[in-house]
Amino acid sequence: MVKNKVIDGHLHIEAFKGEEGPFINCFEKYRDEAGIKSYNICAIPHLTHNADAISSAANNIQCAFYKLAYPNVFAHGCLEHFDTAIPETTKPGFDYVTQYNELMEIGLDGIKMLEGKPDYHKRIGKNLLHPELMRFYAEAEKNQTHIVFHVNDPIEFWDPALATPDRIKIGWYYGDGTFETHQGLYDQAEAILEAFPNIKITFAHFYFCGEKPEKLQKLFDKYPNVNVDITPGTEMYFSFEKNHDFYRDFFIKNSTRILVGTDGTHPWPARFPIWCMDRLYRFITTDDVMPTFDDKPLTGLKLPDEASENILFKNFERRVSEAPKPINKAALKAYIDKYLPTITAENTAAAIRELAKQLD
Ligand SMILES: [Zn+2]
Repeated sequence: MVKNKVIDGHLHIEAFKGEEGPFINCFEKYRDEAGIKSYNICAIPHLTHNADAISSAANNIQCAFYKLAYPNVFAHGCLEHFDTAIPETTKPGFDYVTQYNELMEIGLDGIKMLEGKPDYHKRIGKNLLHPELMRFYAEAEKNQTHIVFHVNDPIEFWDPALATPDRIKIGWYYGDGTFETHQGLYDQAEAILEAFPNIKITFAHFYFCGEKPEKLQKLFDKYPNVNVDITPGTEMYFSFEKNHDFYRDFFIKNSTRILVGTDGTHPWPARFPIWCMDRLYRFITTDDVMPTFDDKPLTGLKLPDEASENILFKNFERRVSEAPKPINKAALKAYIDKYLPTITAENTAAAIRELAKQLD
């Protein structure tokens, strides 16, 4: 029906090269095989458990070069956090409003925030209501810049009874008292909305509300510019399946508030987003019963065409734009000159210097 109009709103790049080749065309195979129109690469600050650390700035630069090579691709940039040991400060000349303006000038299409994910939130040591962040939200609200914002994680991640060694190892157990609480993160995010009620935020992963849709409905009703994506977050699909009829009505009622994404990530093979988009598309448009996450059955909602189109591409186009912004090479060059000295991993810096040659 509309598959060739679909826009995947949520993908990442976490390396310069993978087994399927360099990052620069890493999602084109996915686009071709899934038969979708476009996709949005979200830069993310890299976590300490990622040994091959790429800084936020390096990831932003990768996104910009990707858009330069593929002008029909969208990308969201992210903020760089310095001086994490001194939470009340930001590095002079690198305040968040300056960074935001730089990213917009380069031609990125929005901002991705991971600052509300518990482990990263702890690592940067900054409350989401930090005064410098508040100034950034004010600008983003004024300019109606789209923000994909990851706030929270499944509540189970705080539960000591469920803290498996694997989960502890990757840093996804938050119940040891050193992390902000589940409720605390919601409180911080909602204080942002209270202060900037027209800010254009799409909360990633259904805002982790699969078991509390009434909470999400309240936010939708109160803040007309808040949306969510249904990027898995597999747990939300178990909730959708358990409450199928309820959620079919919920999706129809709120079809202008929901976007799709797969979380496909380079350097992992393209077969994941290809498979995931097939499931998401059929979940929205058909009543197929499909083995999906953890091989558990998922029953399609078979939404009316109008609702399907909203969720699969129209909401993204309305909130971001119908066509990606072009890259401003001079602004990109200036950004590289300014941020290259901040990139401490030598192999990452070398890769950026190599890319920068394209601008000479
Ligand atoms: Zn993601």
